[in-house]
Formats: sequence, C-alpha cells, structure tokens
Amino acid sequence: MKKGQSLLHDRTRDAQGRPIAYLRLSVTDRCNCRCAYCMPAAGVPMLAHDDICSFEELARITAACCELGVRKVRLTGGEPLVRRGLPDLVRMLREVPGVEELALTTNATLLAPVAAELAAAGLDRVNVSLDSLRPERYARLTRGGRLPDALAGIEAALAAGLGPLKLNCVLMGGVNDDEVADVAGIARERPVDVRFIELMPIGEAARWSRSRFVPAEAVLAALPELEPVAGSGRDGVAELFSAPGWAGRVGLIRPMSHRFCAGCTRIRVTADGRLKPCLHSADEVSLRGLEGGALREAILAAIALKPAHHGMDGAHASESARAMNEIGG
Ligand code: SAM
Ligand code: SF4
Repeated sequence: MKKGQSLLHDRTRDAQGRPIAYLRLSVTDRCNCRCAYCMPAAGVPMLAHDDICSFEELARITAACCELGVRKVRLTGGEPLVRRGLPDLVRMLREVPGVEELALTTNATLLAPVAAELAAAGLDRVNVSLDSLRPERYARLTRGGRLPDALAGIEAALAAGLGPLKLNCVLMGGVNDDEVADVAGIARERPVDVRFIELMPIGEAARWSRSRFVPAEAVLAALPELEPVAGSGRDGVAELFSAPGWAGRVGLIRPMSHRFCAGCTRIRVTADGRLKPCLHSADEVSLRGLEGGALREAILAAIALKPAHHGMDGAHASESARAMNEIGG
C-alpha cells in the first residue's frame, strides 16, 4: 500500500508518549560476512530452520504492527539477501495495509543481481553498510566480503531506483577513521547520504577497547567545509551536513555521544519472532504462533516495556542479550 491511503488506526504511543511508527524486521540471523565488530570470526550457532519465522508469519506480524500505527518497515538481518526468496517477501509486505515505506539494510555484496527484481517487487529504498573503500581493508574488516561486489550492489541499487540511497559507515578508531574524507567524498560526487555511525558496545564490539569508540564529531573535524543542512537538519536519527557543490549529504548518527532515544519511534522483531522494544534492553516478547487480538496484545505489551533510554556509556555495554546480527541494528 502506498502513501496517501487512509490511516488504519491512530499511532500507538509508548509509556513515554513516543509514537511507534517504524518496524525493523530481521529476516535471518545468518550472514555471508563476519564484520569484526558484529560477529565472531568463526560465526555463531545459527537458528534452526524451524525457528525462523516463515514469510507468512513475518507478513502477519507486520500487518498487526501496522494496525497499531507502524508505517515504515525495514528488512534487515544478519544479511537479508542470504534469505532465499526475499523478493517474494517484499511482494507480500507491499500488500500489507499501512506499509507506506519498505526499505532494506544490506552489505550489498549480493545485491547487484537482485536489485531490479527487488525494486519491481515493491522495495522502495536500500541502506548499504560500507566501512572502507580500500579493498584489502574491506575484506579484512568484513572477513571475506569483496569491495567490488558491494560497489556493484550500490550501482545496481541506484540504477534500479532504490533511492534515496544511504551509505552507513561505522567509525572505528585506529581501524577506518583515516578514511573519513574518502568515504564522505562519495557524497561530494553522488546524490547519496553518507552516514557515519558511532560504534556501539554490543555484539563483538562490547569487548573492544574504548579507544575504538570515536565520537562522530571527528567527521566534522576531518571535513571543516561541512555545514548543517538548512531546515530541520535531520533525517530520522541522522544529523545532516553538506558543503557548497556537493551532490549529496553527510549524516552523523551519534547513539553514544548524543543519545537520540527521546525521539525513538522504532520496534524490532528478530528472525525468530521476538519483539524487542529497544535495541539495547534485554526485554523481548515472543510473537510466535499468535494471531489476531492475541498478537496485537503481545505487541502492545512489548511496546509498554520500551525504556526511556539506553544505558550505554564509557563503562556500560548494551544490555541486549543478543548480538547485532540477530537483531539487525
Ligand atoms: N547485514 C546488513 C548490513 O550489514 O547492513 C544488515 C544487518 S547489520 C547488523 C545492520 C547495521 O548494524 C550495519 O550497518 C552494521 O554496520 C551495524 N552494526 C553492527 N554492529 C554494530 C555496532 N557494534 N555498532 C554500530 N553499528 C553496528
Ligand atoms: Fe553481516 Fe551486517 Fe553483521 Fe557485517 S554488520 S557481519 S554484514 S550482519
């Protein structure tokens, strides 16, 4: 269902009064990469096939969330493109009443061959994770990913009209922070948002030295020509900057140095059907096997658990019992 169609219900609000409008749906915990901050090199025990929600269950959960006010849905993972038949899921979700925006977050290494099919199935946009523009470093960081594949995926997404395209780069001190100007430079030439994300102490990164956690302020120091974008200067959780003559924009996502929980409108569902009201809390509510009113009640119960803010700081890691590849970011 596209924009402009009548809303189903008023938006559900959490205990803090925040409207819940955005569902991040993890379609798999598997991944073809092993990014150093996200997954252990040897991988993790994967969910059994039966533990993963079917496309029908994912569509049912999405429909119930939309009945409660969700309008934006993002497919994530693990790597969502390793889930077989993803275009079929896109087609199913496109038919769900209330879905106004359907997006995908991907490492893009498997995207090129399916970008046009995903667009034809009804996908609106993609966000691509891209932490380095140096082929060897990219391969080392992702433990096996090939930069040319990711770049081909980005070009295919642009050609298929899966924009506005956003590129996400996690800033890591002593790892890729010397590439800020190069990665941001993509936005100088192309009409994309290049967003720098502060590393969060979750997943593998929870055990990393604090010296790896670089405030996104470093991007502004590396690129003094950047100025705040006029208007709200924001796009969701990203603060936007640009410079005269640049085709695109640079975004800063600062969960650590500038907590944005007060404006959080998100809920997340893991590939095994558990609703997480906050990325960083241990609370989850299982939605497996539920339908109709029972499903809606379970979603409302989970939303009621959404905390006012996360508790991560220099001394405290995420309280999530799950790693990022299980939740989807
Ligand atoms: N595989 C897809 C991808 O990489 O885009 C989707 C899933 S991935 C878990 C979603 C996002 O989480 C990616 O942009 C990744 O960089 C980010 N991420 C994973 N671990 C992170 C961490 N510790 N801190 C900040 N971002 C993280
Ligand atoms: Fe896979 Fe994405 Fe995690 Fe990298 S960040 S290991 S691509 S799920």
